[in-house]
Order: sequence, then C-alpha cells, then structure tokens
Amino acid sequence: MLARRLLRDAALLAATLALPLLTFYLTIAVRDYDGALVLPDRAFIARVAPPDPLTLAMYAGWFAFQAALMVFLPGRKVAGTPLADGRSLTYTLNGAAALGATLVLAAALVFGDRVPATILYDRIVPLLGAANLGAFVLCCYVFVLGRRQARAAGEPAEGSVAEGFFMGTALNPRVGNFDWKFFCEARPGMILWVLIDLSMAAAQHARHGVVSVAMVLVCLFQVFYVVDCFALEEAMLSTWDFRHEKFGFMLGWGCLVFIPFTFSLQALYLVDHPGAMPLGAAAALVAFNFAGYYIFRTANLQKHRFRKDPARPIWGRTPEWIATARGTKLLVSGWWGIARHANYLGDLMMGLAWCLATMARTTLPYFYFIYFVILLVHRERRDHAHCAAKYGSDWDEYARRVKWRIVPFVY
Ligand code: NDP
Repeated sequence: MLARRLLRDAALLAATLALPLLTFYLTIAVRDYDGALVLPDRAFIARVAPPDPLTLAMYAGWFAFQAALMVFLPGRKVAGTPLADGRSLTYTLNGAAALGATLVLAAALVFGDRVPATILYDRIVPLLGAANLGAFVLCCYVFVLGRRQARAAGEPAEGSVAEGFFMGTALNPRVGNFDWKFFCEARPGMILWVLIDLSMAAAQHARHGVVSVAMVLVCLFQVFYVVDCFALEEAMLSTWDFRHEKFGFMLGWGCLVFIPFTFSLQALYLVDHPGAMPLGAAAALVAFNFAGYYIFRTANLQKHRFRKDPARPIWGRTPEWIATARGTKLLVSGWWGIARHANYLGDLMMGLAWCLATMARTTLPYFYFIYFVILLVHRERRDHAHCAAKYGSDWDEYARRVKWRIVPFVY
C-alpha cells in the first residue's frame, strides 16, 4: 500500500518535471530541426534558454492584463452546473470581449510600431520558460489556497502533497468571485495561442516575403476554433474538466503552457517550411476541417439543448432517450445515437486537418493529432467508467443501443 503510494507520488513528480521539458523539446525540434524526432545532443540542449527579465516581465504583464480583463469587462452572468452540495457558482461570460480587446491592443502595438509582430516567434523559447515558471508558481499557490478552502469547509485533506499538487486540492479555487479554473481554462492560454499563431505568420512573411496558403489555413482553422470556444463560453461550464476535475498542475499547466505552445507547433513549423499547397488540397482541407467542426459543435449543442429542453426536435424529429433510475435522460437521437462521443470525432477531424496542412514529412508537426487521439481515447474510457458507475444498467442499455464509442464502424 505504502509502496504503491510512493510509486504514484514518484510518477507524479516525474511528470511535473518531464512535461515542461517535453514542451522545450518539441519547440526546439520543430523550430530548429525540421520537426524531426531527434535525440537531443549538446547543441540541442544549448538552445534551452532560461527566461530573461524582459520576457518574464512581459509574461507577468500578460497574465495581469488578462486577469484585469476578466474582472473589469462586462459580461452576462450565468450559474454553473450545481455542485455536490447543491450550490451553483456564478460566472461572468466576457471571454469574447477579452479576446477582442486583446486583438485590438495587439494590432495597435504592432501597427503603431511599438512592438514587432514577430516578437512571440523571436522569443518563443524564453517565453516558454516564463510560462512554465508562471504556471509552476500559480499551481503552488492554488495548492495552498485549495487546501485552505477545503479545511475551512471541514473537508479532510485527501492524498499526498504530490497528488494534491498534480491533481489539485479544490474543484473551484476562488478568491472572492475570481475563479482560477475559469480564468486559466481559456484566457491566458487560449488567447496566447492565437497571438503566437499570428506572430508565426508574421515571422514567415518577414523571412520569405509571403504568408503561405498552408499558414493561412492553420491560422484560420485555429483562430476560428478559439473564437467559437469564446462565442459559446457557457458550454465550457458543463465539460468534464469543470464538473469533475480539481484544479492542480495537470489542468493549470495544461491550459497555461501546453495549449499555447504545443497547439501552435504547426504554425511554428510553417515559418521555415511555407510549402506550396495545391488549391484542390487546400479546398479539401477546408471541407474536412469544417465538417469536423460541424460534427463537434452540433453534437455538443444537441446534448446541451436536450438537457435544457428534452422535447426540442433533433434533425426534425422528437428526440428519443433512455430514462435512467437517477432521473437523468440519456439521449439516443442525433449524433448521440450514432456514437457515444461523436463530439470527440469532430474534434479529432479538426486536429488532423491542422496537422495535414503542414504537409510535413517529419513526425512532430503531427504531434497534436497523436496526442489528441491518446487523450480522447483515454477520456472516453474514463467517461464510460464514470457513467457506468453512475447509471448502472441504464448505461449498459445505452451502450448496447449505441455500439460505437467515437468513430462509427471503426471504434
Ligand atoms: P462530453 O461533453 O462528451 O460529456 C460527457 C458527459 O455527458 C457524460 O459524463 C454524461 O454526463 C453526459 N452524457 C453522456 N452520454 C450522454 C447521452 N447520450 N445523453 C445525455 N448526456 C450524456 O465530455 P467532455 O467534457 O469530455 O467534452 C466536451 C468537448 O470538449 C468535446 O467536444 C471534446 O472534444 C472537447 N475537448 C477538447 C479538448 C482539447 O484539448 N481541445 C480536451 C477535452 C475535451 P452526465 O453525468 O451529465 O450524465
């Protein structure tokens, strides 16, 4: 028992150290080694630069700016999904306004010649160092905050320090109305991802005198994805992360570092590999990406709307459902009657389109898709186990009626 716990702690500690190193590896290999899976030698390691004071100040300013936007911008107030004690927390939906304000400010700084458009490309490695450091400091803080909140609520401190740090100590660590999970899930990470992509496009233009079709596609697909996420910000509150995942290093670091720096690897690769994409291939990628988007978005909306109004027609017909002993209805119409997680299929199609747009012959520009397959297959298994435990034989009945997990006729 003790040995198993120690082993688990050691694994969590190793992950806490290895994940930041992985982001350095990916960034340097994609930027300087054509995206090849190379074994890091001395020359490779020498490129890992610690963050300089200016980059650290830039990142701290960025973080504070996004926090200020979340606190001060107006937005619709909504109640989150009910917690275990029946309470609902209130959230202000102003993410789209924050994204808009950030883009306006960035444009003013760039076109006013205050800041070079390539700044995020030029400083990508020290910026990555600053983001890692910032995420680590924040996760230490929310670890202490979560423990304090749990103690104040009379809850026992569960698990070891390593587990609490990695998996989180509170579901919703808050200071007043400022919700750290809601803030980190989208603002400083997702918006930085957009700015990094645009800076990569500027860097490609500065080096090659063009912004290639491939770069336009990657930026278009990814900026669209982020804008859509903010346009439907409320839907974030009903995701697995919000409802079940405590806020620790896994979520915090993932949102602050992993998302902006690894989801932008395709654009980073294209800086030095603009490529010449035939028009037919570009059209096919656009169609594939937006077909994926359509599946992803309509599947999520079907469930969201069904939970609010079970009588609302889906694809022109009254929805079918399974009434569970828990009182919740399980939808068997629309995408939810075709696969148990068609929403993951749509997301995967988009991820594949982003990677294929690089036309790379090396491995790492496809990292996002490879990681995403692993993540979503694991997530589907976890969700399946959760629903099986929650709904018992009703879930078995659903799984019997809807055979496919993610990809119809394949998986
Ligand atoms: P889902 O939105 O798929 O929600 C799963 C939950 O929905 C289940 O736990 C269950 O909850 C309920 N449910 C399951 N089947 C049914 C049904 N037939 N009818 C009604 N309710 C059902 O899970 P996620 O939060 O994982 O994903 C949300 C979106 O986020 C997805 O589109 C995914 O692709 C995306 N995502 C993106 C990531 C990224 O890195 N880009 C990472 C992870 C997710 P209940 O207890 O309420 O019954």
